[in-house]
Amino acid sequence: MFEYAPAPESRDIVDIRPSYGLFVNGEWVDPLGDERDKTVNPATEEVLAEFAVASDADVDRAVSAARKAYESVWAQLPGRERAKYLFRIARIIQERARELAVLESLDNGKPIRESRDVDLPLVAAHFFYYAGWADKLGYAGFGPAPKPLGVAAQVIPWNFPLLMLAWKIAPALACGNTVVLKPAETTPLTALAFAEICRQADLPPGVVNIVTGAGATGQALVNHPDVNKVAFTGSTEVGRLIARSVAGTGKKLTLELGGKAANIVFDDAALDQAVEGIVNGIFFNQGHVCCAGSRLLVQESIADELLAALKRRLSTLRLGDPLDKNTDIGAINSAAQLAKIRELSEAGEQEGAERWSPSCPIPDRGYWFPPTVFTGVAQSHRIAREEIFGPVLSVLTFRTPAEAVEKANNTPYGLSAGVWTEKGSRILWMADKLRAGVVWANTFNRFDPTSPFGGYKESGYGREGGRHGLEAYLDV
Ligand code: NAD
Ligand code: MG
Repeated sequence: MFEYAPAPESRDIVDIRPSYGLFVNGEWVDPLGDERDKTVNPATEEVLAEFAVASDADVDRAVSAARKAYESVWAQLPGRERAKYLFRIARIIQERARELAVLESLDNGKPIRESRDVDLPLVAAHFFYYAGWADKLGYAGFGPAPKPLGVAAQVIPWNFPLLMLAWKIAPALACGNTVVLKPAETTPLTALAFAEICRQADLPPGVVNIVTGAGATGQALVNHPDVNKVAFTGSTEVGRLIARSVAGTGKKLTLELGGKAANIVFDDAALDQAVEGIVNGIFFNQGHVCCAGSRLLVQESIADELLAALKRRLSTLRLGDPLDKNTDIGAINSAAQLAKIRELSEAGEQEGAERWSPSCPIPDRGYWFPPTVFTGVAQSHRIAREEIFGPVLSVLTFRTPAEAVEKANNTPYGLSAGVWTEKGSRILWMADKLRAGVVWANTFNRFDPTSPFGGYKESGYGREGGRHGLEAYLDV
């Protein structure tokens, strides 16, 4: 084992204000009500900043600003002009990448290695990619001159705060819509920094509006009568509520919800590579990933060998300070999420699965959960059925490819899956049979702005990313 010296990234590069207002019509405005909330650093429980909780009247103000900008400016601009703004935003994100990565790690708890090397490059790539589409919409396969929808109401979760913002805002703007976006209540800071970036890019006022708050603010936004499009990423439970309230209103809806992905390892797979893929599949971002490979399906003949190698690898993971560049596992995003992970893990033990974690010191303050593996898991166990959204892997075995398919598809979700095998024909056969929006072969959790992403069944509907992602923001 190596001895590691601490290698902390400095937080001096970020400038967090003690208190934030709302970003409406290109300006910081005080909320009409006086309700406020606080966001903490989940690694220390330190309060980072206070932010406004937008009321129905605040949401109304933001939607009006977006409507006005849509009608008077944004929808009138030729695509090549909209592209210039998006390219400018993408470049500013690259220039400020280090600052944004530190801010994301502070507010969310994710390791700086991930926010710096995964989140931020993907955020910039999304803006670059959709900037490229803005003047080519007539060639996207939706008719010669597809029209935007109008005002988009966008509600995002806390697991990839700035990346989910990019997934929502970049295609919306490229297509000529204006937006009101609500970040999650535990991670508003990078969205508020993005508001500054819109000003820096001279984006016309009202094209992007950011309102902060919790569920009630999100509800006011998606139910506002003057929005034309609702885009939501988050829990299936809230997705269901939104689908119900939007039904019959004529608003176009996309939902990106939960998952319980199978990561399937066949006996001919390259085992060391598969171990890395399993680790990346479920321990990346503390398992706060909707497409996480939370169910490992391993062929019975190699189960013992694979699990021994996996446990050896997990014993080398470093848990702790998210700003330390050597950290693999950061903090759990909130006390509520930690309670949920604990509850489901306890249920796993009670239902008879065997629980294992490497010995790893847990910091005294903050929200932490060690990497955890359950073996002897039955398909009926809660830890095999419910989304845990934490660093917890449930291991099941199979004997034949048909059994692997059956078990993988035995879930109400269908967001992603992984297949590890040497055989190309088996990869194609599996990809055809798996009811999942994304199927990775000999890799996992790989994202690319050119590739569509979205679910089957209770994982939601609609696609984000790629050419497909344009459809959600065009009147087609
Ligand atoms: P959530 O669905 O409650 O929150 C997601 C976003 O929706 C937040 O911005 C929240 O403020 C907002 N929201 C909450 N209630 C709303 C409502 N009625 N109308 C409109 N917006 C509303 O998710 P959560 O409570 O943060 O997490 C709960 C579980 O959801 C997690 O444990 C996990 O299983 C799942 N989850 C999935 C994803 C994903 O990417 N698919 C992301 C976050 C959480
Ligand atoms: Mg926070």
